[in-house]
Amino acid sequence: MKIVMKFGGTSVGDGKKICHVAELVKRYFDKGDQVVLVTSALAGVTDELLEIAGNGCEHGKVTAVTEFIASLKSQHFAAVNDAVSDEAIKAGVIEFLTTRIDELEKALIGICYLGELTARSRDNISSYGERLAAPIVSGAISALGIPSKYYTGGEAGIITTDAFGGAKPLPKSYDLINSRLTPDLKNSIQVVTGFIGENEEGSITTLGRSGSDYTASILGVGVKADEIWLWKEVDGIMTTNPKIVPSARTIQYISYQEAMELSSLGAEVLHPRTIEPSMKHHIPVRVKSTFKPDFDGTLVVSENIKSKNVVKAVSMIKKVSLINVSSAEMVGYIGKVAGIFTILAEKNVGVRLISQGSESSISFIVNDSDSAKTVKSLKAGLGDSYKIDSRSDIAVTAVVGAGMAGTPGVARRVFTALGKENINIIMISQGSSEYNISCVVSSSDVNKAVAALHSEFELDKPDTKNK
Ligand code: ASP
Ligand code: MG
Repeated sequence: MKIVMKFGGTSVGDGKKICHVAELVKRYFDKGDQVVLVTSALAGVTDELLEIAGNGCEHGKVTAVTEFIASLKSQHFAAVNDAVSDEAIKAGVIEFLTTRIDELEKALIGICYLGELTARSRDNISSYGERLAAPIVSGAISALGIPSKYYTGGEAGIITTDAFGGAKPLPKSYDLINSRLTPDLKNSIQVVTGFIGENEEGSITTLGRSGSDYTASILGVGVKADEIWLWKEVDGIMTTNPKIVPSARTIQYISYQEAMELSSLGAEVLHPRTIEPSMKHHIPVRVKSTFKPDFDGTLVVSENIKSKNVVKAVSMIKKVSLINVSSAEMVGYIGKVAGIFTILAEKNVGVRLISQGSESSISFIVNDSDSAKTVKSLKAGLGDSYKIDSRSDIAVTAVVGAGMAGTPGVARRVFTALGKENINIIMISQGSSEYNISCVVSSSDVNKAVAALHSEFELDKPDTKNK
């Protein structure tokens, strides 16, 4: 099989973990699989880079930069020492890292002096996490006797738009990736930095936070992979958060669409953006645990494989607020709702869920962090004839599954299960895809609600495939 395997920051958190990753991919390579490896930065490094760049720009403290660089260097050198067992390879990696880290130090000091941090330099600085990780991972693989090269996203062929901080691959990337990575796939493991690409002028761009999954998806399309594997520290995509419901199970198969709905409804499984390229090209994405490599995890596929149970998973969104807008002026007038959402868009407020119960009122959910801004701008923009109130003591729980579409009685089961637990439903929303039903409940009820729904749809029992 041809597989693009992505490892996140926690999986490459230190030298020992990088060693484990190298041994893991070796197993597949030795079996005859062709592997492209995508690595994130060592855990936490991207955050630190962004923080030091932001502080440098604001306060101009060069000493803070030198301290940061010293600790970054020792962290990465320690990782090399633990991960790369061959002395010659180790020396090569250390030399490369030294050059990169010196370069980074100069860039950060430059920011201190200039007091300016452009979107382009922000992307450049934040790219160093992955650019320091990839040579270590590649060195660890070489030290195990498997030829390995490392590439930045741009070197691998990911040429992007100029949207620094949220760049997208240009269509020509796919052929470039294929021509650069495919020839050596049979006899080596190529390691590519996640999260970054470059624009047509050759400046480094980033694909958005947590962008390494996106990289894996893009490379998977480029090399025409059979599967894309996202290695995590969890057993795959779960029926719900096991910290809330210990009997939660791994979902064996899930469609892209269901996975996307789950992600937008609070389960941190896959960012919809990340699976877009693989979805378009029908490449299955597998979510697997580094702790249990023999366990299949979850396979995300194109078709909706209905399971015995109509609902596949229960998710929840916390730290959100409910906003209610009502006015007699909304009745019978065209464009009033558009006016409300235009105000929100102008203020850069994302809307998570919407429910319009009648023509005179509309309710929606925004992140807690946007709530005050939302209320203030709506009050200013809509005037006195509108009543606007908000509640932050709420949370959302949602049931998701393609099997719900066209199946009568799912809503009844949801409401009955919550009613039995004496849980009041504050707002309901069901998209016309019928792939989810979301309920807003009081935050103090949400864990109980998730457990009740998980049990109502028997998600703790083994799932049987029912195509
Ligand atoms: N290192 C990047 C981040 O923290 C990308 C990733 O980990 O996927 O956002
Ligand atoms: Mg809240």
